[in-house]
Amino acid sequence: AYQPVESLRQDLAEKGVKYAMASYVDIHGAIKGKFVPLNHLDRMMKGSELYTGAALDGVPQDINDDEVAAMPDAASATQCTWNRQLAWFASDLHLNGEPFQACSRHILKRQLAAAAELGFSFNLGIETEFFLFKDTEDGGFAPISDRDVLDKPCYDPSVLMDNLPIIDEIVDAMNEQGWDVYSFDHEDANGQFETDFMFTDALNMADRLVYFRMMANEIARKHGAFASFMAKPFADRTGSGAHFNMSLADIDSGKNLFEPDGDDPHQCGVSPLAYHFIAGVLKHARAICAVIAPTVNSYKRLVQRGAMSGSTWAPVYCCYGNNNRTNMLRIPSQGGRVECRAPDISGNPYLGAAMMLAAGLEGIREKLEPGEPHRENMNDHSLAEIKAMGIEMLPRTLGEAVDAFEADPLSRDVFGDLMFDSFIDFKRSEWEQYHNLVSDWEVKRYLKMF
Ligand code: GLU
Ligand code: MG
Ligand code: MG
Repeated sequence: AYQPVESLRQDLAEKGVKYAMASYVDIHGAIKGKFVPLNHLDRMMKGSELYTGAALDGVPQDINDDEVAAMPDAASATQCTWNRQLAWFASDLHLNGEPFQACSRHILKRQLAAAAELGFSFNLGIETEFFLFKDTEDGGFAPISDRDVLDKPCYDPSVLMDNLPIIDEIVDAMNEQGWDVYSFDHEDANGQFETDFMFTDALNMADRLVYFRMMANEIARKHGAFASFMAKPFADRTGSGAHFNMSLADIDSGKNLFEPDGDDPHQCGVSPLAYHFIAGVLKHARAICAVIAPTVNSYKRLVQRGAMSGSTWAPVYCCYGNNNRTNMLRIPSQGGRVECRAPDISGNPYLGAAMMLAAGLEGIREKLEPGEPHRENMNDHSLAEIKAMGIEMLPRTLGEAVDAFEADPLSRDVFGDLMFDSFIDFKRSEWEQYHNLVSDWEVKRYLKMF
């Protein structure tokens, strides 16, 4: 279709765009892409931009393989606000004219199609916790504001004001794309912020999240700072979650099918369908964890206290409940949705959403039941009590998570052979690299022990 591309090109040109980015994500969900001068937009939209998969993390290709082509999604066209010469396009990767098995976006689309077959669309709201830091002269990093030293910086307006020049620009950028930011705050760690915006369909939300990370970082850099999406930079402060707020809607009417409508068997604020979804996610929670908490550092966040005095607000147990932040799955008091608290902000949201949806759909197909909800503070239970209640723990390390991912048949179904093998290879070697180091802690503890 030449005409729509031509009108898109004109539209972008009028806004001052010079280059279009045929962009896709690697296994980490990091954006990659080439810049295409706008007069070649028609070629780009037909897949002219080719990429050597072997050059990228987690794209399982050899150097002698055919390149993969980026097929941009016209609906995702986004003028970059920090540099208006650029327009960003989310793309699917194709290989020899067919969807490429190891494309994250394609992997999510396959699950969305499975949901559509059952009459569902998948709505997702991701909460964006992240850090803003500046580099320090000693080669380290620190919060931007000198006032950002409180032990309990959560909701602190003074430090939020100090960071407002950056955050205001981020919020403007989000709202210019119609994301509808409804609030932002200083979170519970120094240098940590959260900019919350409305949910949308899962594909759009995953596109938005990967764009958000690039955008927030580029804007921070304009201000001499940087944005970090590391899960847990400080051992004694909370990490950055990326809570997934999930619901299924009727694909035709858009009606939220997680609304209880008077039928709420466990009195937490959702429908029987949602309880099946919850049961599916709990069944596969340990495998899902490898995807939504994908780094060595992610598991420093998924602890009850660690080096902290207060709560980390991050889950450790595979269970669900009402408006209770000590469960992996929480049903916020307004009801009608399920919040998974395990994902952190360093994940690949396409793969995370695909795993979560596939598990939830299995719960629905098989009418799985999640058991009774937990309304108590789970952190008050001893490990023995947790075990006696039959509650599993989330993996404690990336190594454990990769084992759980490998052992669960759902993972290969969702990822496809190519991405499944690649993910395991990549993440296991990441774990080994870390595990094979000898830390200062070990030397301090053991060197002169006897
Ligand atoms: N930062 C916490 C986490 O690691 C979440 C805090 C909150 O509930 O907003 O998930
Ligand atoms: Mg938060
Ligand atoms: Mg939340």
